[in-house]
Amino acid sequence: MPTIIVDKEKCIGCGACVALCKNFKLDSNGKAEPVKAEVDKITCEREAASNCPVDAIKIKE
Ligand code: SF4
Repeated sequence: MPTIIVDKEKCIGCGACVALCKNFKLDSNGKAEPVKAEVDKITCEREAASNCPVDAIKIKE
């Protein structure tokens, strides 16, 4: 099952992933996290990962 991982140390809270993909939200510290870390199928997560300015989103397949 693919897993979505956000490196919160790297995340600068720009919100790009949230805007691009409904499977991301910002936590109370303004850092992104997946709504669902384990998904049946990767959809918009890949686009979000490739648009993250600090390369903080990883997808394990
Ligand atoms: S796109 Fe990257 S830096 Fe911006 S909020 Fe998402 S994970 Fe954080």
